[in-house]
Amino acid sequence: MPELFIDGEWQSAAQGQTREIRCPADGTLVDTVDEATREDTDRAIAAARRAFDDGRWSSVSPTERGRFLERVADLLERDAEEIARAESLDTGKRIVESRYDVADVVRAFRYTAGLADKNLGRIIDAGVDGSSSRVVYEPVGVCGLITPWNYPLLQTSWKVAPALAAGNTFVLKPSELTPSTAIILMRLLTEAGLPAGVGNLVLGAGAEAGAPLSDHPDVDMVSFTGGLVTGRRVMAAAAATVKKVALELGGKNPNIIFPDADIDAAVDNALTAVFLHSGQVCSAGARLIVHESIHDSFVDRVVEGARRIRLGGPFDPMAETGPLISAAHRDKVAAYVAGALAEGAVLRCGGGIPTDHALANGFFYEPTVLDGCTTDMTCVQDESFGPVLTVETFADEAEAVRLGNDTIYGLAGAVWTSDSARAHRVASALRHGTVWINDYHPYQPQAEWGGFKQSGVGRELGVAGLAEYVEPKHIHESLAPAPSGWFGSEEASNG
Ligand code: NAD
Repeated sequence: MPELFIDGEWQSAAQGQTREIRCPADGTLVDTVDEATREDTDRAIAAARRAFDDGRWSSVSPTERGRFLERVADLLERDAEEIARAESLDTGKRIVESRYDVADVVRAFRYTAGLADKNLGRIIDAGVDGSSSRVVYEPVGVCGLITPWNYPLLQTSWKVAPALAAGNTFVLKPSELTPSTAIILMRLLTEAGLPAGVGNLVLGAGAEAGAPLSDHPDVDMVSFTGGLVTGRRVMAAAAATVKKVALELGGKNPNIIFPDADIDAAVDNALTAVFLHSGQVCSAGARLIVHESIHDSFVDRVVEGARRIRLGGPFDPMAETGPLISAAHRDKVAAYVAGALAEGAVLRCGGGIPTDHALANGFFYEPTVLDGCTTDMTCVQDESFGPVLTVETFADEAEAVRLGNDTIYGLAGAVWTSDSARAHRVASALRHGTVWINDYHPYQPQAEWGGFKQSGVGRELGVAGLAEYVEPKHIHESLAPAPSGWFGSEEASNG
């Protein structure tokens, strides 16, 4: 069956090109899918434009749109195991992690479903007699949605659900490496009753299939999740037609440990913070910033834990984390570690490709700890997006905050201490979109997610996540029309 979904029909790519999707854990062929070129994306944009302009979705009441999203959530739950397997095959991540991801996708749809008819307009009392003013929230229009490979369906749900809740139409372009769950989602949206043309799917490379979503004049908004360099490109391309832009980019996230923290919990979470999904998490706690008085013992325990992490494929019940997404990405991580060592970082564990024969066909990389790092080093500043932890030390609270903020990114961070006042002081001082206190990684669909500084523009989830997809409009009515008397009066009044 063809895999591009345009104007309510499954279609092949116009140029007939295809791409093989292979499981990064062992190289097995998962699927061969259509590879769109610009002309396919242009066709999808035209379909979304027509569907928006004739109001076939925006005229559906917000309550109905919410009910629709609930139906999608039900279907996602019904097919959860199939979706989780597809996600694991594309990404190589453990099946248990994929199951958590699908559950989170369902939560995102249900939360947004509940918001759909709470997007209330307001009456403005301007204090002017004889007039009525109101503000309404209308859909932005045609949305280009571009998503990455690390949490393919989850990142997609954070865009598709609010875009539809607000009455928009969209063209979705998932990562070319992980298209399978986007294909399933489109099937489920159709089954739930989405009218033709409202949701469209193109698959393929970013520069070819994705680029029109940021430069095409018929796209009103582009919402992008991915790397900083691509994000800058998307934003620059969108400037030509002054599109609304939402960007969820990378992070270089500090995990700050004070000596009075619950050390057992902090060690354990320092491992999860950075090595979950082999570090391929935008909010990964890849910078351990530990007080100098506990540095040696703390880092010893982290290194010990890192050495014990078992690598394996998605369906290996003993595996604790999986491979990197591709050979090219593993090469990048290896180059990052080599660069770190060249600039003086101390390798405490990992730093190579595992020698285990069973892993030979996958893109595995050892959990790696680099000690003796400082903020002037590239390895502390650049995102590796792999299983690599850098370690810095601090002497006092002010220095911890300074280090935690010494980054162009501002996505997430954590502080570990038993001193509640200090915890909240540090949380307030950190310039990051999410701060955890004595924890790492939890997020809720009710709470906004997104970045300060170069980690992005705008927010996903929460009420602000829906607000990205609306245009506020002010409608003013005079209840007693009268000449303004500004021009053509007998004599100009100059005060
Ligand atoms: P990427 O930037 O390489 O690709 C992201 C998407 O953009 C893909 O679909 C890709 O095909 C597309 N793309 C590439 N070039 C394009 C272009 N010129 N125009 C339009 N689209 C284009 O990122 P990735 O490697 O897939 O994902 C990893 C990055 O994503 C990391 O930096 C990570 O931190 C970030 N990320 C951020 C968040 C967040 O919530 N802030 C979440 C997940 C991932």
